[in-house]
Amino acid sequence: MTLVGVLGLQGDVREHRAAMAALGVDTSVVRTAEELAEVDGLIIPGGESTAMSLIAQRVGMIEPLRAAVASGLPMYGSCAGMIMLAREVVDGRADQQTLAALDIVVRRNAFGRQVDSFEADLAMPVLGPQSLRAVFIRAPWVESVGPGVEVLGTVAEGPSAGRIVAVRSGLVLATSFHPELLEADLRVHGLFRDMVDEGIDR
Ligand code: GLN
Repeated sequence: MTLVGVLGLQGDVREHRAAMAALGVDTSVVRTAEELAEVDGLIIPGGESTAMSLIAQRVGMIEPLRAAVASGLPMYGSCAGMIMLAREVVDGRADQQTLAALDIVVRRNAFGRQVDSFEADLAMPVLGPQSLRAVFIRAPWVESVGPGVEVLGTVAEGPSAGRIVAVRSGLVLATSFHPELLEADLRVHGLFRDMVDEGIDR
């Protein structure tokens, strides 16, 4: 039976578990290396990346998570989770650690403090022709991507038009926004479920 873990150090763990449950996928909360060893894929939720990084360091989870990245465990990060997966963070805290699972540079709180949160329709062709409603909360954007990183979604309109907000590389997926907050559209979680299945088949 496929088991998807949700990193339970900080952030919106419950919402991601509910989204996977709605797709019929079993989930567990991952807080230890032992729990990490049991899952077929890992979701890193939205929350606050600096807090998540500090807690991960305090509880000794940075190295197990880096080892999981190196072993090719499928991972999906939303918002703060995207920051955790990035190679480099602009406007992060000096002591903020990341897992470098994706060859991307992200800018924290990129949309500006005055626009704390907003919703937008995105074109995400990988999910089909229908646009995706996306919720952004103090979100990062992807400043640049390395070779081999596929851009899956960009902001369509407004002052941030063209900004990269969804990427994939191998079996690692990241979004600046929070699909776990919109129960009506589970396509991003469905895409991650397919990536986890692909990881099991390998
Ligand atoms: N601004 C947060 C950070 O730096 C991310 C916000 C979110 O996950 N909603 O981690």
